[in-house]
Amino acid sequence: MISVYSKDTDATGAALLTRTQVRVPNAMLSRFERSATMEMPDFWDQETDASLAARDEVAGRLAQLFRQIDGIGNHGAEGYSRFAWSDEEAALRVWFAAQMQRRGFRVEVDAAGNQWAWFGEPSAENPGVTVGSHMDSVPGGGAFDGPLGVLSAIVAFDVLREGGWTPRCPIGIVSFHDEEGARFAVACFGSRVLTGILPADRALARTDADVISVREALDGFAAKLERVRETQKAGSDCLSEFNEAEIDTALADSHAPEGQAADLEYLKCSAAHIELHIEQGCMQSDLGAPVAVADAIWPHGRWRVDFEGEPNHAGSTPLDRRHDAMLAFARFVQRVREEAAAAPDARATVGRVEVEPNGVNVIAAHVTCWLDCRAAEAQAVADIVNRLGAWLAGSDGSGLEGSALDGTGSDGNGLEGVTATLTRESWTEATVFSPELRDALVQAVSARGDDTTSDGAKSYGTESGGEQLTLGQSDGVEFRVGQLGDAQSSAVRNSDVQSAAEQSREKKSTNSSAMHSAKEPALANLAAPHRTTELAPVIGTAAGHDAGILAESGCAAGMLFVRNETGASHTPREYATLVDATQGVYAYAAAIRDCADRVAAGWRPRPVQSER
Ligand SMILES: [Zn+2]
Repeated sequence: MISVYSKDTDATGAALLTRTQVRVPNAMLSRFERSATMEMPDFWDQETDASLAARDEVAGRLAQLFRQIDGIGNHGAEGYSRFAWSDEEAALRVWFAAQMQRRGFRVEVDAAGNQWAWFGEPSAENPGVTVGSHMDSVPGGGAFDGPLGVLSAIVAFDVLREGGWTPRCPIGIVSFHDEEGARFAVACFGSRVLTGILPADRALARTDADVISVREALDGFAAKLERVRETQKAGSDCLSEFNEAEIDTALADSHAPEGQAADLEYLKCSAAHIELHIEQGCMQSDLGAPVAVADAIWPHGRWRVDFEGEPNHAGSTPLDRRHDAMLAFARFVQRVREEAAAAPDARATVGRVEVEPNGVNVIAAHVTCWLDCRAAEAQAVADIVNRLGAWLAGSDGSGLEGSALDGTGSDGNGLEGVTATLTRESWTEATVFSPELRDALVQAVSARGDDTTSDGAKSYGTESGGEQLTLGQSDGVEFRVGQLGDAQSSAVRNSDVQSAAEQSREKKSTNSSAMHSAKEPALANLAAPHRTTELAPVIGTAAGHDAGILAESGCAAGMLFVRNETGASHTPREYATLVDATQGVYAYAAAIRDCADRVAAGWRPRPVQSER
């Protein structure tokens, strides 16, 4: 689907910003081709985004924060590179601390190096709600993966405070250190050390490509912070809106930790942790959903496949007398795609291969390849790999002897007598987010204010027609976003959510008229606009996140996703429109407020992983 924007005025003369989504036939233009060829607008400079930023206070504030950090590690067409304990991280840490201190937060660095900003005094007895994400990037990454979850949290807090809300429990905004693991090759470095999943000695011993250890990088970080101070004196940079005293205070709370250590007190201070992130796929585009709630990180595994053939001369060996490991490998790769395509919500990839003897004129004797397989359900992965194993063994469909996921066989289908061995190298179970927190998030971001009904009948998706939704208001100008959800709900796995959506479709016409009512300044009415979001779908994610690490270590964690226009990730092509990102801010604000109110009343969502 592609988005089409149009501007118009309604009967009262108020400006309308209407967005409709148009499905492009797959045969004409696949999503993959589209994301590879679509012309990317300058970062939030698209006419629609620019006009929204100019007229909507919330959108404008979010865009302004993004602009402030945009120059940090920005290599233009090559994307953003923001690595652990670099000059870029130094600038981002000082900027984060300065922004939070200006808002009355106390900023701390935990023993693993993550930065926490606290509003209120949290303790194990008086835990709060924590939100946030990370500011680092992969090499050549996009602008949104990470920063969207931190910057949106800042604006969401503004939304709530300036709307008159006072939190009755502590609120924490966290910027996790080194989520991407680009420098020291451990993903979620900061949260893994914090939770003790990555032991301190192993963390300190990691080295980067230049053989600089984590220990050395920590020791050298003070000098990088000093450079941030120097840059500021030169008067140009992300901190230009802060005075010298503010920068000094921010610098003091941006230091590196003394070493690397778990710091479980921080986890006890959080009764519920919520991370907002740009979606790293295209499920929300397909669903027509600007905001979604995550329920789990997909289980995934890696398998090694060894093909043993027979080396021989490429010219003198007749085709019918070959045992060509390369041909067997090629047929296997084809089979992998077919099996994954036949399963629901599954991905299988062969992305790495080694060939021996690797000669142009020699039939391959030995090929080793690696299979990465993941799916919403562990059973789906097991089924795919079992079928592949059976096929390799030449007993297609009859199953394998021994281990369910490992197998050996010969005389496989069309494999020319090449022997294939399938060996499991790793397996990671699904990380399931707190079901209670997940349900609270769905409720918070989907409810329609006064329009919420006690039977929970809310709507998601429209059959057609582009319903008008109020997004935000500013200076008496009302923005509306039309949404053409086509309700392809195969990815919506919360059956309650689905049935509620179905029940409520008939009620939709009566509901929608209630949505365009009061016109108040944006920040005074900040809690209201999010409530026009339709029922958020619940989706799984195939990528890892700090919230997943927290969930793994027994915290009640959950995630919100914002639609990614291109579906691309870890590339400058990843893109959330400002319209969607603003919707994300409203959703975050609703989630923070609702969860904080509940936590203050004694609610402790269980982190159980028992639903699956
Ligand atoms: Zn991320």
